[in-house]
Amino acid sequence: MCSERNLQTGSRRGKLIIISGFSGVGKGTLMKELQATYPGQYALSVSVTTRSPRAGETDGISYHFKTQEEFDRLIKEDYFVEYARYTGKSYGTPKPFVEENLAAGRNVILEIELQGALIVREKYPDAKLVFITTKDAKTLVQRLTGRGTETEEVIRKRLARAVEEANGVEQYHHIIVNDELSAAVKELHEVIQTENGSRISEAELALITDIQSDLKERLSI
Ligand code: ADP
Ligand code: 5GP
Repeated sequence: MCSERNLQTGSRRGKLIIISGFSGVGKGTLMKELQATYPGQYALSVSVTTRSPRAGETDGISYHFKTQEEFDRLIKEDYFVEYARYTGKSYGTPKPFVEENLAAGRNVILEIELQGALIVREKYPDAKLVFITTKDAKTLVQRLTGRGTETEEVIRKRLARAVEEANGVEQYHHIIVNDELSAAVKELHEVIQTENGSRISEAELALITDIQSDLKERLSI
């Protein structure tokens, strides 16, 4: 991974880790638990978004919530490492946070969708890409609807987006099934710590294809 050293301080640059996965799979929950289990070991980037805050979300902690006009201004100011549209809203990764933390030797985590992940991989070829999934489509739908934060229409759009995102899963280095939370947190930590390159297996690919087919059936698409 990143063995480049800071010329002034001689310190090692941090690793860049990208976490993606279908909406409702438990990415946010995993990120919170990873930080609680391994305190101080990960710098989690807080993205900018134009979507509305959900109940319980705090500006500056969950996201930096902005208007589309403010977001567009940040694009012009070259503030983002990457930005993308997701079900009608904009999301972007702040460049200063990523650069400052990597330079300080901290491992930086970006929890972002596929398009953004591919842009970041171009810019940071050493980035490790991890895809989170549930064990099946039923669990995904239950978690997404059970969260109770989106309307039926938005849930449908998010599941349709999951069907598209499943096609990009081969771009990732690792797949983690978020079944039992503490086991998934431990696996994620180990995957990040290991220096070995990795490719996803045929069985893991088949799991994603199964989920994709099941979602298509449920959505009649
Ligand atoms: P995402 O950030 O991927 O959209 P969330 O972290 O909001 O997903 O999780 C969606 C729902 O699933 C939440 O209600 C959360 O409590 C629940 N959840 C997350 N991980 C697990 C797990 N391992 N087992 C059971 N429920 C989970
Ligand atoms: P949510 O609205 O559920 O918080 O996020 C929707 C999707 O946007 C998720 O797939 C999440 O990973 C992704 N996302 C969050 N922040 C960013 C970002 O800065 N850039 C990109 N490209 N995607 C993001």
